[in-house]
Amino acid sequence: MDFEFSAEERAFEAEVEAFLAAERSPDVMDAAPEQLSQTVDTQPKRAFMRKLAERGWLGMSWPKEYGGQERPGIYDFLLTEALSRCGAPQPGKGVGIVGKTIIRHGNETMKRLFLPQIMRGEVEFAIGYSEPGAGSDAANMQLRATRDDARRGWVLNGQKIWTTSAHFADWYWVGARTGEHKHKGITLFLIPMDHPGLTIRPTWTIGDERTNEVFFDDVFVSDDFVVGQLNAGWTYICEALDLERFAMMPVGPLEKKVEAICEWVRTARRDGELVRRDPRARRAIAQLVTQLEVARMLQRRVLSEAVKGGVPTCESSQYKLFMNECSKKTANAALDLIGSESQLEAGEPTAPLGGRFARSYRYTVVDTIGGGTSEIQKNIIARRKLGLPT
Ligand SMILES: Cc1cc2nc3c(=O)[nH]c(=O)nc-3n(C[C@H](O)[C@H](O)[C@H](O)COP(=O)(O)OP(=O)(O)OC[C@H]3O[C@@H](n4cnc5c(N)ncnc54)[C@H](O)[C@@H]3O)c2cc1C
Repeated sequence: MDFEFSAEERAFEAEVEAFLAAERSPDVMDAAPEQLSQTVDTQPKRAFMRKLAERGWLGMSWPKEYGGQERPGIYDFLLTEALSRCGAPQPGKGVGIVGKTIIRHGNETMKRLFLPQIMRGEVEFAIGYSEPGAGSDAANMQLRATRDDARRGWVLNGQKIWTTSAHFADWYWVGARTGEHKHKGITLFLIPMDHPGLTIRPTWTIGDERTNEVFFDDVFVSDDFVVGQLNAGWTYICEALDLERFAMMPVGPLEKKVEAICEWVRTARRDGELVRRDPRARRAIAQLVTQLEVARMLQRRVLSEAVKGGVPTCESSQYKLFMNECSKKTANAALDLIGSESQLEAGEPTAPLGGRFARSYRYTVVDTIGGGTSEIQKNIIARRKLGLPT
């Protein structure tokens, strides 16, 4: 692997860092970032997104005819990492999954309605693939779309689960069953999130994050809001994953956590003794720093492949698996090093490091599930990299 950032890329990164330093605000940025800091669920965060848009940092890799700059995907990566290091919200689904798919497959109505709004940072989307019987096996979705010829559209009935942004998003990007064939019987629809017939119920994770169940009761969608071809939804879902390689899970939050625990160890005392003199503490810290470096290298492999124009499926799985496990190990090690007080939550005045690792301990479990579980990543590596049978 040969991977270096160019002078121009470094200059862009510095420009983003300077902007973020000037914009630092607790209303917008989470000082102790976990992975999913990208939710744009408040007005200050929406205003922040519009500022990114004004700087031309949304849709940088989009074609020029849709307002983009046709910049290489590496710029999206540099932006994502910089935002993640300071716990800022991230562009996410509109620019990536939704926008890029509409550019490739959407009709003119959709392009006119959505693409300018996405470029201005004015619209948020929720993604609805998972259902009670369709998680790891997402193509098993059963939300039913029935043809209504008289109204020239479709009527949707059924249920989604784990729709993370449903309670604040403007539009819902939903996969529904329009045919019997498992993979070739799924169609993608766009629905306003406040559409009559949609009921949203909260589900709280142990990481304090709200996600949602969404129920569909005779939800009508006109043909104008069918994405691309009928029954081609699964192909678009898979394609969007490949188009999103540069906006992958950032390593920034893990870097910040390792930095925080290293800082703590420098000065902390236990039973009157400096923790940094304890050989077990030194071993633990050395291990965390080394694992972080391995995570960075695995991430660079994904980038290196993507820059060459490849589809780094195995590299992405290796990176996600290692990153998630590494985040869990970091939280566990922090709890061991700090001792019983580490269980004090944020808001407790005496909580070490502001209760950061109590939250992190709970949150890092969630990361091993969302976006494809660790077991599924292992299956991909076993099958595609090692050629083991299914
Ligand atoms: C916080 C959070 C946010 C999410 N946000 C969204 C969202 O916005 N939109 C959306 O559509 N989805 C979302 N998801 C859903 C997520 O993609 C699924 O939870 C995930 O794919 C796992 O599916 P499942 O929960 O149904 O578990 P299952 O697929 O039922 O898996 C249960 C267990 O079995 C294991 N398993 C399953 N299949 C295999 C296999 N073949 N081999 C070995 N082990 C296997 C899994 O690893 C897991 O441990 C979110 C999930 C979480 C936790």
